[in-house]
Amino acid sequence: MANVADTKLYDILGVSPSATENELKKAYRKLAKEYHPDKNPNAGDKFKEISFAYEVLTNPEKKDLYDRYGEQGLREGGGGGAGMEDIFSHIFGGGLFGFMGGQSSRSRNGGRRRGEDMIHPLKVSLEDLYNGKATKLQLSKNVLCSACNGQGGKTGAVQKCATCRGRGMRIMIRQLAPGMVQQMQSVCTDCNGEGEVIHEKDRCKECEGRKVCKEVKVLEVHVDKGMRHGQKITFSGEADQSPNTEPGDIILVLQEKDHEEFRRDGNDLHLCHRIGLVEALCGFQFMLTHLDGRHLVIKHPPGKVIEPGSVRVVRGEGMPQYRNPFEKGDLYIKFDVQFPENGWISTEKLTELEDLLPSRTEVPVISADAEEVDLQDFDISQGSSGGHRHEAYNDSSDEEGGPHGPGVQCAHQ
Ligand SMILES: [Zn+2]
Ligand SMILES: [Zn+2]
Repeated sequence: MANVADTKLYDILGVSPSATENELKKAYRKLAKEYHPDKNPNAGDKFKEISFAYEVLTNPEKKDLYDRYGEQGLREGGGGGAGMEDIFSHIFGGGLFGFMGGQSSRSRNGGRRRGEDMIHPLKVSLEDLYNGKATKLQLSKNVLCSACNGQGGKTGAVQKCATCRGRGMRIMIRQLAPGMVQQMQSVCTDCNGEGEVIHEKDRCKECEGRKVCKEVKVLEVHVDKGMRHGQKITFSGEADQSPNTEPGDIILVLQEKDHEEFRRDGNDLHLCHRIGLVEALCGFQFMLTHLDGRHLVIKHPPGKVIEPGSVRVVRGEGMPQYRNPFEKGDLYIKFDVQFPENGWISTEKLTELEDLLPSRTEVPVISADAEEVDLQDFDISQGSSGGHRHEAYNDSSDEEGGPHGPGVQCAHQ
């Protein structure tokens, strides 16, 4: 007596686990003759069971897995190809592919399926993320028909589809040669894969037998202060309803819109401010309207110079922290210094200016053999020849709605 984990497939063929391949073949032929659908239309799934058992037990690899680990071995070792799910679950109960691929949405506990989650993007402004916002979102979803309680008709109106015996799929078995069968699976056309039919006269008038109706649902969405791009707001069990299914979630994914002035990096804010040469050298002040509408005065005293492209920070004026909104990040201001245009001053005045400005660092050394070359105006936005550099200059991290890195660039005008 062979020592095997499970004998179900042997039982189907009516042989002992120690049966030889010849004995298996004999048993299969005898049973296949008896239960072939052409000869015995009332045999149900018997023929498919026989074929399945035979296929497994005559395949050395599968037989070995089955003998050692039983049905689990077949599941994990890939007991069948496409089309085998049905017969597998018929013999062993439970699904085959749920174990194999993990794609099945059937929950492990009670076999009640979980519906798909509905994912919606939700565009929000930086102001919304700074101040927080309650908003209403209207969407249309399927709910169980209240007129028929999601049954599609009166009690008893729903009939199992006779063509596919309620499975929604039809399996065709072709015998290619003794012991060689090909199985093909296709969606049942009589019930459109539903596995059941409702006669037209019995159909629920409200849902026309579809069991669900469209309903407009209004969700109250709270965008909290400090939430981020890509953050999810979940409404459990609010997705489409369908019979015998646990509804999935509605998941809103925040999409932070670009702001004209501020760029966000985590909890910090960055902005670019343009000043003139006078301000850069002689001090300045300006007013800034923050994301919550407050006015801030930004001052830089005379006597302190701002270098072009340099950055100053205002602590605590960045974005509020999520769930801790009294703590805020910082506000970084990058200064773009606008130099005066050509001809802003006469040459005589320039000499005066030169006297006021710090003296030239050093007198340049120019050797006698040096060639004089032509220094021309160049528009940086046109790019140099070669094409690639043009892109490099425009690469101010304009990912769509995405968070921006700290490298804020002032727009060139
Ligand atoms: Zn059907
Ligand atoms: Zn209905």
